[in-house]
Amino acid sequence: MMRIGYGFDSHAFKAGVPLVIGGLAIEHPEGLAGHSDGDVLLHAITDALLGAVSAGDIGTFFPPSDPRWKGAASSVFLKTALEEVATAGYKIVNIDTVLVMAQPKIVPIAGELRESVAALLGVEPGEVGIKAKTPEGLNQDHVAVAHATVLLESLAISEPVGVMAATADADDEINDVVKTLVGESRDVSALGRKVTPFDTDDLT
Ligand code: MG
Repeated sequence: MMRIGYGFDSHAFKAGVPLVIGGLAIEHPEGLAGHSDGDVLLHAITDALLGAVSAGDIGTFFPPSDPRWKGAASSVFLKTALEEVATAGYKIVNIDTVLVMAQPKIVPIAGELRESVAALLGVEPGEVGIKAKTPEGLNQDHVAVAHATVLLESLAISEPVGVMAATADADDEINDVVKTLVGESRDVSALGRKVTPFDTDDLT
């Protein structure tokens, strides 16, 4: 079984704060304003991961009203989303992203960004797409925007339980065990559980 997730975020540029995108410190005169470190890319990826397992969004777990997350590294948010994905019984297949900003230019650092994001997600760089656009015609030259999509696959399929299921055709007893195991892994899934209503005015 597979799941897809999508995330979006935007932050305004602001003088006097460091620029961090995809967990990478980038040399630039301005950073991104936000309650946390303003890492627009990690916020979009976090929302994509949470959305893929129907676990709400970044504001569900980290309300901007909570002083604990002031200046927080956004890798903390990402880690929580990864835990939700694992709890739901899924793992990442691949992730694709688009960054939209006039400055700084992303292409020269896209390789570094890809490695940074892959390391934070615990996947191979080849499983992460980083694409960049400039905001032509949008009149948004002082804003950073990020979009992210993620594809997940069920651990029950990719792990040994899935292998057993595929090879146990001739053995009803093993089939029953596998069915029970797969059923149990679905029972502990976080999918479809109730999450508290979240404030869509996300300032993280
Ligand atoms: Mg944000």
